[in-house]
Amino acid sequence: MIQESSVADYVIVGAGSSGAALAGRLSSDPRTEVVLLEAGPRDKDKYIHIPAAFSKLFRSEVDWDYLTEPQPGLGGRSIYWPRGKTLGGSSSMNAMMWVRGFAADYDEWAELADDSWSFGKVVEYFRRIENVEDAAANDAGTTGPLNVSRQRSPRPLTGAYLEAARETGFPVERANTAQPEGFSQTMVTQKRGARWSTADAYLAPARKRPNLTVLTEAAATRVLFEGSAAVGVEYVQGGVRRTVRARKEVVLAGGAINTPQLLMLSGIGDEQQLRGQGIAVRHHLPEVGRNLSDHLLSILGYRVESDSLFAAEKLPELANYLARRRGMLTSNVGEAYGFTRSREGLALPDLEMIFAPAPFFDEGLVPGTEHAAVLGTILLKPESRGEITLRSADHADKPIIDPRYLSDTGGVDRRAMLEGLRVCDSLASAPALKSRLGEMVRPALTSRPPLEEVLEIALERNSHTLYHPTGTCRMGSDAASVVDPQLRVRGVDRLRVADASIMPTIIRGHTHAPCVVIGERAADLLRQSN
Ligand SMILES: Cc1cc2nc3c(=O)[nH]c(=O)nc-3n(C[C@H](O)[C@H](O)[C@H](O)COP(=O)(O)OP(=O)(O)OC[C@H]3O[C@@H](n4cnc5c(N)ncnc54)[C@H](O)[C@@H]3O)c2cc1C
Repeated sequence: MIQESSVADYVIVGAGSSGAALAGRLSSDPRTEVVLLEAGPRDKDKYIHIPAAFSKLFRSEVDWDYLTEPQPGLGGRSIYWPRGKTLGGSSSMNAMMWVRGFAADYDEWAELADDSWSFGKVVEYFRRIENVEDAAANDAGTTGPLNVSRQRSPRPLTGAYLEAARETGFPVERANTAQPEGFSQTMVTQKRGARWSTADAYLAPARKRPNLTVLTEAAATRVLFEGSAAVGVEYVQGGVRRTVRARKEVVLAGGAINTPQLLMLSGIGDEQQLRGQGIAVRHHLPEVGRNLSDHLLSILGYRVESDSLFAAEKLPELANYLARRRGMLTSNVGEAYGFTRSREGLALPDLEMIFAPAPFFDEGLVPGTEHAAVLGTILLKPESRGEITLRSADHADKPIIDPRYLSDTGGVDRRAMLEGLRVCDSLASAPALKSRLGEMVRPALTSRPPLEEVLEIALERNSHTLYHPTGTCRMGSDAASVVDPQLRVRGVDRLRVADASIMPTIIRGHTHAPCVVIGERAADLLRQSN
């Protein structure tokens, strides 16, 4: 039996980086009624709030706990893909790195969509979003809801990494310039040493608004239509199937995996695939689920004597955190990063380098056994593209995720990653780090083959996601795109998408920041057109 539970102006599916920002902004107008559906529970788990504990959320009840198809480019391994399933979405389990990306990334979106997505326009959203503590630059926001701070207790090892970068010839600069060309200490989405998710930034202040209804443990199962117009959402809560109606519009903000799944379950996608699953086709939109682009991370791990987050759970650190909100437990793990090029002639960096003073190995699923540090490299603009497809017509069945890492025919991605690992090795060999790093423990090898062989092994065995899937409901000005530059789903009415899935191309940075921009931008677009 289906129960009709409520009606609002807007129904938003997903309370993540984009959805929480959107719901918070829309409901700031008391005349606008908003229902926000979130499949996960409230964000009460203590590990959400203690920064260094985020990997303890992996495979917990606040994780969608996805697994990719076996990846031939990575030795046939299936890669674990965590995604947040709670208020704040993935911003409640991410590594809190606030990395805007390059101005050129947003200018590229503007070329593919329209000028409203250019950096010149987007930077205004960053200003509106951010509350950067001790902001050093005038393009940083200082009055927004989302707190961005320096790390309170970065490890001395991280200082050594930045010194090693300097010794290797890289500039060390402040984070989040419009065209970063060097290395920086990470700015983090934290306040007084605790995580500051979009639930903290946008939903907590909206808690008492009578015009915002937040339903948790409410999983949307399909969009409801009358003719070509979306008029509501069907969802399951506590085993009961209910509907909520939207007077104005429905917005999907379930993230780059769940949003295309929900569109397909609602009859919007590739008609052949939908028919194959017995789903009635509402609109043939073959690019739904395609264009999947993710950041691949590959690492080298070294034993260190002390000073790594291996000690974060020891009593003195717990006491320091509880008493002063300082110490290792405030660490976001990825404490420093930098940008570089894999080859000469590239106009912009195609590699990010990252440092974690922590034994963050084996996809973060296995607790460390000793002090260690990780030097990683990330492919910022992969040529390889993957796809999300339905496993079945049942919403509770996880979709099939195939990122097709390192699958580009020219082998460009693979060569760039190997070059990135060479840079990791150079940084590890620079005087400031060399004296602190012990034996290489990842890749874990019994003998020590020549360096090039070690790097090939690291790429195959020790690469995993940086958790940035994007692009599966690509925005564009072309007719084949899934959403138009106003985020409206093509071929139907009153339905929009606002989350990581709309990115036409992945940015050279981390994806939380642009997702919050997308949520804020969606709020403006809805207000302007209704
Ligand atoms: C472990 C990890 C570390 C990361 N580290 C960083 C980092 O340090 N910096 C950075 O910039 N980015 C990081 N990211 C990536 C970043 O957090 C994401 O790109 C971003 O949060 C995605 O935002 P979104 O709004 O698209 O989706 P999400 O934030 O994932 O939100 C989607 C929400 O929709 C809900 N939902 C989905 N389907 C349904 C449904 N059917 N019904 C109801 N609700 C539904 C989900 O439960 C979730 O709450 C990380 C991600 C992870 C997982």
